[in-house]
Amino acid sequence: MTNIPELKSMLLEEKARLESELSHVGFKNPEIEGDWQPAPTDLNEPTADINDTASGIEVFENNAAIEVELEARLLEVDAALVRMEANTYGVCRVCNNPIEEARLHANPAAATCIAHREG
Ligand SMILES: [Zn+2]
Repeated sequence: MTNIPELKSMLLEEKARLESELSHVGFKNPEIEGDWQPAPTDLNEPTADINDTASGIEVFENNAAIEVELEARLLEVDAALVRMEANTYGVCRVCNNPIEEARLHANPAAATCIAHREG
């Protein structure tokens, strides 16, 4: 039997961790609930010379890549929590069979069984 309370606490922990990581590389979009934006680097700093500006852009691109990855994972975690509320958690969205418990423990946000895992 799938241990929902344990998996739920794993999901909530991961959600908290993702949100704290996101707060370092981005900020919450005030317009769209649950959406995050990469943190812009201040390119207008008075001390910025051409080299600082270039590295500022690099930092921004790096932040943006991390932000996109973290946000995608956060969406998966949130979706899994929603499925728990709806009692549809732990069922493969492709074949509707129960998702293997080992897979759920490795990735509590999994929406597919091992046979239908993506990537
Ligand atoms: Zn499946």
